[in-house]
Amino acid sequence: MGQIKSIGVLTSGGDAPGMNAAIRAVTRTAIYNNLNVVGIKRGYYGLVYNEMEAFSSKSVSNIIQQGGTILKTARCKEFATKEGRAMAYANMKAMGIDALVVIGGDGSLTGARIFAEEYDIPIVGLPGTIDNDLGGTDETIGYDTALNTIVEAVDKIRDTATSHERLFLVEVMGHMAGYLALNGAIASGAEAAIIPEMETEIDQLGDLINRGFRKSKNSAIVLVAENPSTGGAMGLAQRIKEEFPEYDARVTILGHLQRGGSPTAADRILASRMGAQAITALLEGQRNVMIGIKNGELVYVPFSKATHHSSTIDRHDVEIVKILSI
Ligand code: ATP
Repeated sequence: MGQIKSIGVLTSGGDAPGMNAAIRAVTRTAIYNNLNVVGIKRGYYGLVYNEMEAFSSKSVSNIIQQGGTILKTARCKEFATKEGRAMAYANMKAMGIDALVVIGGDGSLTGARIFAEEYDIPIVGLPGTIDNDLGGTDETIGYDTALNTIVEAVDKIRDTATSHERLFLVEVMGHMAGYLALNGAIASGAEAAIIPEMETEIDQLGDLINRGFRKSKNSAIVLVAENPSTGGAMGLAQRIKEEFPEYDARVTILGHLQRGGSPTAADRILASRMGAQAITALLEGQRNVMIGIKNGELVYVPFSKATHHSSTIDRHDVEIVKILSI
């Protein structure tokens, strides 16, 4: 592998607030180091179907505060095939791109690993997902903003829950990980968090709800992580209706509003540090690693470790929600 002269940057999978701050940091750090930068549109789709443009420092002006991604994002089935990746490689070479920075989640980094193994391309990944479900990093870009959005929403739901003395089940995202639900519950003072990492039996749920309703305000808020195997908040509401018909449970699914919004300062800083480090890593000769953060320090995480996430949910945090809602 020769010297890197030109890098391509793309965002892939679900969008996350802070992706723009990451694109800006990657672009400007690369230009600062005399590298050419190519912005690749719609994730891997832009590589496969040749949607790319040369980026200047100005291409990333005035975006640090914007949610979403100026490069757009997509799910690209073709890239999961050998033929699709061959097209991507040919386009990349024709554009003179020597290395890639991929900003995305689990699937995007799996795609990056496979592409790098097949074609011997230096690729550095950035963890861009609100779900915080990647290995080797304490936080992902977008997680803090989504958490703040959840807290703001739950604060508002609390007003109506208190006034009507109702039980609210608030479903949050997380893609099989309970970080948003658990930390959202701690930060909003919810009565419970139902997370995929821990089975919740119906009698435990009854206990949780009763505890909430013993309080003077006579309302309860339970944060529920999305979970196709249990039906998420709707599934839980059905179980409550059958087992505890005395409670008038209401469901709010926060959905995609958790993905939007201007990134928090924490996400902008994380994205800027990680984006700059991605270029440093490539220039140092690192390849096929994700930039992670552990105890405040940036670290290199091999793609295989980043995409094999085993939950780091602290059971004590579950206990904290319980203790603090008595
Ligand atoms: P989020 O966590 O927000 O869902 P993600 O990066 O996990 O983001 P995916 O839809 O799983 O999102 O993956 C994004 C893209 O990465 C896919 O559309 C596909 O182009 C590519 N990709 C995923 N898995 C593979 C794979 N096994 N081989 C090649 N490419 C893949």
